[in-house]
Amino acid sequence: MEPKAASKDRFFIVIRGKSRRGFCRGCIGRVEAETARGELTGLMYGCGSNAGSPKNGGPVKAEDAYPLTRHQAQLLLYISSPSRRLEMLCNPQLFSAICELTPGDLVVIRYKKGHVPGVVKNLMQIGKKESKDDLNMLGFQVEFPAYEESEEDAPPVPESEAASLFVGKMKGIQGHINSCYLDATLFQGFVPAQSVMNLRKKLGCETFSKNEKPEEFISVLFQKVLCIEPLLKLSEGGSSHGAYTLQIFLEKEQMGQTPTVQKLLDTSCMSGDIKFETMPSCLIIQMPRCGSKYKMFSHIVPSTELDVTDLLYNPRECFICGQMAKFECLQCLPDHKLQPGRIKQYCSTCNTQVHTHRSRCSHSPKALALPEGVATDAPPPRRTMQLFGVLCIQTSHFVSFVKYGPDPHSWLFFDSMADRHDDEKGYSVPEVRACPELGDFLGQPEEEQTRANPALAPELVCRLLCDSYMY
Ligand SMILES: [Zn+2]
Ligand SMILES: [Zn+2]
Repeated sequence: MEPKAASKDRFFIVIRGKSRRGFCRGCIGRVEAETARGELTGLMYGCGSNAGSPKNGGPVKAEDAYPLTRHQAQLLLYISSPSRRLEMLCNPQLFSAICELTPGDLVVIRYKKGHVPGVVKNLMQIGKKESKDDLNMLGFQVEFPAYEESEEDAPPVPESEAASLFVGKMKGIQGHINSCYLDATLFQGFVPAQSVMNLRKKLGCETFSKNEKPEEFISVLFQKVLCIEPLLKLSEGGSSHGAYTLQIFLEKEQMGQTPTVQKLLDTSCMSGDIKFETMPSCLIIQMPRCGSKYKMFSHIVPSTELDVTDLLYNPRECFICGQMAKFECLQCLPDHKLQPGRIKQYCSTCNTQVHTHRSRCSHSPKALALPEGVATDAPPPRRTMQLFGVLCIQTSHFVSFVKYGPDPHSWLFFDSMADRHDDEKGYSVPEVRACPELGDFLGQPEEEQTRANPALAPELVCRLLCDSYMY
């Protein structure tokens, strides 16, 4: 229930024109005064994540504004795009039907490529109310009657539609009782907290512990629920085994101060004598850190493209001359004269040459084992993998960054507990934000990324660099 005084509140949406500061088309305002010249002045509620906190806007002509009730203003505030708010307003039949919805009403929701029936369960006030002028957004919680999933494969959401479908408050997975490790790992369209709780119960991981680990969840999900073979077929010290994730193991001294994911992977695999027996379809790499308690490096530079050619159990080309390689050398890995951090493998001639240098004569290069029956006359093509997601942790809270299309700027940031609505039935407000600034940073040459000071970078770039847990 709204307080009585609120009924005197006058709200409006700007339908035309533009002011030098403040109001523009699609902005929602609250009238504080009306001038004799027919102008409205008041507070302006913008768009995006701080939409509920108003600023002082400039004057707007009364004829350029369309009056709204508080309820209508709250509903329109939930729509983050100003042009979509106006589209909604231009469909008075639909808009008035939405304004009248109450719990128990039947609705039809656009879902994947079709429409499905649902029932309004709740009207949810979204946002903090820190000052009396703040305006909560109003959203609907809709239940699908439990609905038969189609057997067909659902294609990923196209890049052109992803941002408008995913970005906003009450988007993504709704966090509940330490579920962030799982929410951030799964991240998809909107899923209410109860559905995630049901999944946790079925998986036997409803212990509500803060120490749940994404890698354990991934193994249970892939192995027990999806029945997927291990994603990685590894040869470790000559014996084979499967795995779903790959943990980086190394000594801090093997790396410079700011490593890249490529260098961490190369060094870890070389040191542990690990090779991929087959090209991984998907590679999940865990950074050298222990939750929020310990991290080996203050920050890590993401590699948007990983070159795994030299980590494959395959013929490889000599690092120096391009002939077929016969040896690899772990001690050459950090050599500053030889592109430090990259794997070094040599043909017989170059192996002898490189190791005649007095600084390297103590090295013990290892003869490369090759699978039987593999043609060794042509060097293999380079095999690369693209980065599409990063799981981050900061003070025991997991969040994720997700690439949603081929454009370098197509990045989303997801936090299942971005905000909290506290009433008698308190709940988390999940949020998805577009973060094209990641594309700007990751588009720079690697040396510049390595030199960058995270504290001076935009907030989300800093979180990506400092908090990465899994790539
Ligand atoms: Zn060579
Ligand atoms: Zn060497």
